[in-house]
Amino acid sequence: MADQHAQLDWNDQGHPLSRQYDDVYFSRENGLDETRYVFLNNNDLPQRFTALQSGEQMVIGETGFGTGMNFLCAWELFEQLAPAGARLHFVSAEKHPLTQTDLRRALALWPSLQRYSDQLLAAYRAINPGFQRLVFEDGRVVLTLLIGDALTMLPQLDARIDAWFLDGFAPSKNPEMWAPELFAQLARLSAPGTTLGTFTSTGYVRRALIEAGFTMKRVPGLGKKWEVMRGAFTGTATQQTKPWFARPSARHSQRNALVIGAGLAGCATAASLAKRGWQVTVLERHGAAAQEASGNPQGVLYLKLSAHGTALSRLIVDGFGYTRRLLERLHKGQDWDDCGVLQLAFDEREAERQAKLAAAFAPQLLTSLDRQQAEQRAGIALASGGLFYPDAGWVHPPALCTHLLEHPNIRLQCHGEALLLRRVDHRWQALNGDQVLADAEVVVLCGAADIVRFEQSAQLSLKRIRGQISRLPASPSSAELSTVVCAEGYVAPVRQGEHTLGASFNFDSADLTPSSAEHASNLDLLREISGDLAERLQADTLDPATLQGRAAFRCTSPDYLPIIGPLADAGEFAQAYAVLARDARQVPQTPCSWQEGLYINSGHGSRGLITAPLSGELIAAWLEGEPLPVPKDVAEGCHPNRFMLRQLIRKG
Ligand code: SAM
Repeated sequence: MADQHAQLDWNDQGHPLSRQYDDVYFSRENGLDETRYVFLNNNDLPQRFTALQSGEQMVIGETGFGTGMNFLCAWELFEQLAPAGARLHFVSAEKHPLTQTDLRRALALWPSLQRYSDQLLAAYRAINPGFQRLVFEDGRVVLTLLIGDALTMLPQLDARIDAWFLDGFAPSKNPEMWAPELFAQLARLSAPGTTLGTFTSTGYVRRALIEAGFTMKRVPGLGKKWEVMRGAFTGTATQQTKPWFARPSARHSQRNALVIGAGLAGCATAASLAKRGWQVTVLERHGAAAQEASGNPQGVLYLKLSAHGTALSRLIVDGFGYTRRLLERLHKGQDWDDCGVLQLAFDEREAERQAKLAAAFAPQLLTSLDRQQAEQRAGIALASGGLFYPDAGWVHPPALCTHLLEHPNIRLQCHGEALLLRRVDHRWQALNGDQVLADAEVVVLCGAADIVRFEQSAQLSLKRIRGQISRLPASPSSAELSTVVCAEGYVAPVRQGEHTLGASFNFDSADLTPSSAEHASNLDLLREISGDLAERLQADTLDPATLQGRAAFRCTSPDYLPIIGPLADAGEFAQAYAVLARDARQVPQTPCSWQEGLYINSGHGSRGLITAPLSGELIAAWLEGEPLPVPKDVAEGCHPNRFMLRQLIRKG
C-alpha cells in the first residue's frame, strides 16, 4: 500500500495547503477565531461544557482531523470551563493523517495552544489505518482517530455524538465529504440534542443535511466568510444493534469495580476504569502483579496480521498503536525498546504471506527488507530477509503492569484467590470458601483460563497453551543484535545482560516447571533464526538442563479473538433467542438478560502486549456508554456472548 500521509505544500505565511485537495487546512486570516466561532460557539460548547457535571462526558465528532487544531481548541475550552471529573471525548475521521514532522510544523503556528499541542505531538505515533485512541490528562480528554476514509470509517463507529464539526475541505474541492451517505452516518450517530457546526453554507450541503434529519440554520460568518451554518438533529434515531450485542442499560452509580487477576488484562482494565473516576480493587492470588503469563522478562510486540482485514488483524493494528503510545511513558532501554521487530521470511510460504502483507499495509507500519537490508538492521547474519516493523520492539511486561496500576483509584489486593462469585444486594462478592475477599458493584474477570471456574462464566471455552522462554546470558558479540528477530520463535536484543528466547508451544502439559527439553527446542528455534547469533551465544555449549527460564500458560479462545465485554445469563439467552436455531437471520427484539455488572476480559493468547491495554478501554467504553475504541464488528467479534449465539445457530 502506498503512503497515505497528507501531501502538503507550505505557503509564504507558513500555512499548510493540501496538494491532494488543493485547499487550505484553516482560514488564512484568522484560523483560531474561525474555529472558535464556527465549531465551538455554533455548537454552544461554552455553555455545554460549563453545564457538565462531574462524571459526565461530552462527545464531539469531526470529519477531517487535519492538523488537529479544532481538537486542540475544543480541549482548551473544555479545560477552561468543564468541572473536575467531566470528560471530553473527541472522535475524528482522517483519510490522510499528517506526518509527525508536518504536524509539528503546522501546530507551531499557534503558540497559544502549545500546552496542548505538545501533548498531542508526544502521543502522535503509530497512527496507522484503523481506530487509534490517544489518551490525555489522565483520561480527562480522549481522542479516537478513525484513520481512513470517513465514508468507510464512520459506519464502523459505535458512539453517540453530542456535537459535530464538519470540516472536510470546501465542498467544491472535496464533494465526497459532503455526500448524503456520509450525512446518513452522522444522523445514525446522532440523537435529539446533537448539534452541528460547519464553515460552509453551500445550498446542496444544507439540503442534504436537512434530508438526513438535521434542522439547519445559516448564520453570519467571520471575516471574509459571509455565512456559515449551524444545525441540530431533529430526525429519528436509527442506531440498531442486535440485542445480544446491545449495550447493557444498567448504570453503575457507585462506580466501583473488582478486577480479578493482575496480569496485563486486569491491570489495563483497572487503569481504564480508574482514569474514569472508578474506585478499583484488583484481586490477585500471588504476592504481586504480573506473576503468570505477563511475567516474562521480555515480551515481543509481534504483529501477526492478515492481508484480508480480519477482525483480529484490525484489532492488532489498533491495539498496537494504543500500546505503543502507552510505552512512551515507560523507561526506554530498561522497560521497553522500540528497536523494531523483524519477521524473517524463513520459508516459501512465509515469503508469500509477507509479500501479501507488504502490499496490504502502509510502509510506516511494515516494510519488506531483503537479506542484506535485514542483516544491516539486525546487526547479525541471517539466512533471509523479511518484514520489518519499525515502531515495534520488546517490552518488560511487569513494568507495563506496574505502570498501569499506578493510580490513586487502584488498590492491589494480593494473596487472595477468588474461587466463587456471589451476587448480594446488587454487588458482586469474591469468595474463597466462606471468606469474602472483596466486593464491588461491577466485577471484571481477568484471570485467563481460570475464569471458567466461576459458575457465571463456566460456559466460556478457553484453552491453555504452555509456553516456555529461555534466558540466554549475552556475550559482547550477541549484544550487537539490534532488533527483535523472529522466525518460528523470537529472540530479543539484550536487556540487563540477557536475551529472551522463546517460546515453546505445548498444548498437553499442565506443569509449569521449566523443562530442559523445551529449553533445547528453544535453542533449535534460535538456530533457525540465525546460525550466526547462535554461535555468538555459544548455543552449542549451553546445557539445556542448566538454562534459566520460565513457563506460563497462554490462554486462547476457540476463534483466537480475545473475550472482552459483558456476559448474558446462559439459560435466559438460550430461551430468549431459541428461534435462531430454526432461522439464524431472525433478530428477536427481546432485550438481553445480562448478568448485571459482570464483565469478562480474557483470551489474549500470546499477544496480550498488543491487545490487552486497549481491552481495558473497551471494557470501560461498555461500562460508561462511551464511543467504542475499536470498530463495531471487532467489538462484536470479541463479545463474550458470541459463543452462546453460535451454539444456538449451530443447533439449527
Ligand atoms: N479540522 C482540521 C484542523 O483542525 O486542522 C482541518 C481539516 S482539513 C480542512 C480537511 C481534512 O479532511 C484533511 O485533513 C483531509 O485529509 C481530510 N479528508 C478529506 N477527505 C476525507 C475523507 N474522505 N475521509 C476522511 N478525511 C478526509
